[in-house]
Amino acid sequence: MMQQNIRNVVIVGGGTAGWMTAAALSQLLGPKISLRLIESDDISTVGVGESTIPMIRLFNKVLGIDEDEFMLATKATFKLGIEFRDWGRLGDSYMHGFGKFGQDLETLNFYQYWLRMHLAGKAPDIERYSINRMASQQNRFMRADPSAGNSPLAEITHAFHLDAGLYAAYLRRYAEARGVVRTEGKVLDAQLRADGHVESVRMENGAVIGAELFIDCSGFRGLLIEQTLKTGFEDWTHWLPCDRAWAVPCELAADLPPYTRASARPAGWQWRIGLQHRTGNGHVFSSRYMSDDEAAGILMGSLDGKPLAEPKMLRFTAGKRRKVWNRNVVAIGLSSGFLEPLESTSIHLIQSTIARLISFFPDQEFCQADIDEFNRQCDFEVERIRDFLILHYHATERNDTPFWDYCRTMDIPDTLRAKMDLWRNRGRIVRLADELFAEVGWLQVLHGQRIRPRGYHPLVDLQSEEDIGQYLQDIEHVIAQCVSVMPKHADFVANMRASHERKSK
Ligand code: FAD
Repeated sequence: MMQQNIRNVVIVGGGTAGWMTAAALSQLLGPKISLRLIESDDISTVGVGESTIPMIRLFNKVLGIDEDEFMLATKATFKLGIEFRDWGRLGDSYMHGFGKFGQDLETLNFYQYWLRMHLAGKAPDIERYSINRMASQQNRFMRADPSAGNSPLAEITHAFHLDAGLYAAYLRRYAEARGVVRTEGKVLDAQLRADGHVESVRMENGAVIGAELFIDCSGFRGLLIEQTLKTGFEDWTHWLPCDRAWAVPCELAADLPPYTRASARPAGWQWRIGLQHRTGNGHVFSSRYMSDDEAAGILMGSLDGKPLAEPKMLRFTAGKRRKVWNRNVVAIGLSSGFLEPLESTSIHLIQSTIARLISFFPDQEFCQADIDEFNRQCDFEVERIRDFLILHYHATERNDTPFWDYCRTMDIPDTLRAKMDLWRNRGRIVRLADELFAEVGWLQVLHGQRIRPRGYHPLVDLQSEEDIGQYLQDIEHVIAQCVSVMPKHADFVANMRASHERKSK
């Protein structure tokens, strides 16, 4: 059998999704496949997307990007997790920190030992056993030190806060240097072949651009996946009712926290993200429960510094495209669906969809079994993330506004209910297949949102209370000592910048 390989790929859209895709494909597919990216200077990108999760470092590694250079180009800072304020109850605060907790013992997870002692009132909060969380409390940061052996200093797990516009520009330079051809102009529509595949796109200037594979990175509008192929959308607004956001940058505050702050508000929540040159802020809210003016007022009234621009409104619908891959079009980024930025997962979904596309890279036959499996994996990943986000809203004691009443009492997906039941009984957390968030992520949110299990894993009782108490104390002590030698995040970033500038002179 003679396979006909793909020779021409067209990416429509040059936001974060378009340029991440172009950069990755230019690095991984090599020069034998022609890559073209079309973007219109007249259609702005969404322009937000500043908070990431640690997997982005894998993306950088695959691209061979130097981390310091990337951070300087994107005015990035480090991120150790997300602080949630006022979610479980007004006045509450907890963090979802990245990385490890404690040290697993025998066959059981560390947290099961902690749970036994914590439920008995004999151990402090779980935060004491996480270097990421304890360092965040003191605005301290350093990169993991691989030479530190078994020390928690070898296990610091970081991500970044970055400027979305600078990130796309950085990746554009990277991709163009590796042969990606950029075509500026507006796509008007697309032409279909007899079998329903997209044959070409027609530009405003009359040019017609063909390819065998199209990647739709055109943002919420979904130019090819929806407007052309009418793929359909699964709406999840009943579970994730926020549908708008005001975003505005402001001057930097005095401190530079190595974490994103997500503060719950009467009908949504507000983010704060410190970069090298400014703080990014946004208020995500439900238009069913709050007017645009009121939402803007809450945001502008709670900035840390002087606003640096007028607030910008973004509208969205939580949900996913029915098929991320339809015929010869693969949707990547906002064109594939959207989950609000509470756990900073959108850039990660771009990355994982690119990786999946590489795994299932088609030839011109476009085998349906491959496409079906690709779509199944995309659905699984996004549905598990959806459940994790719903947990933040649903597991609350807040009853102070109609929005929180709705979230607290709403029906939830069975998959989430099963997770919550497992936790409520014996504190069990089961990571399903390769779902994105690991046990420790779920642990922090379940506990942080005040769901307390009735018991713990029975095999914990094979150890004496005294031994467990000593073991917890030792870990707490080592983590506190490690954090005390870490530099302040602001100093770490300033030193990194100074040393890079010295080197490049
Ligand atoms: P866009 O940025 O909208 O880009 C679309 C591109 O398509 C543009 O280049 C445009 O010119 C082009 N285009 C469109 N139509 C045409 C046409 N007809 N012809 C030619 N070109 C066209 N993600 C995170 O990971 N972390 C976060 O903290 C985070 N915060 C967010 C906050 C909010 C309020 C929102 C809405 C999103 C957030 N996201 C976040 C998501 C993140 O912003 C997006 O995933 C990311 O920016 C990718 O967007 P995109 O490239 O798919 O679309």
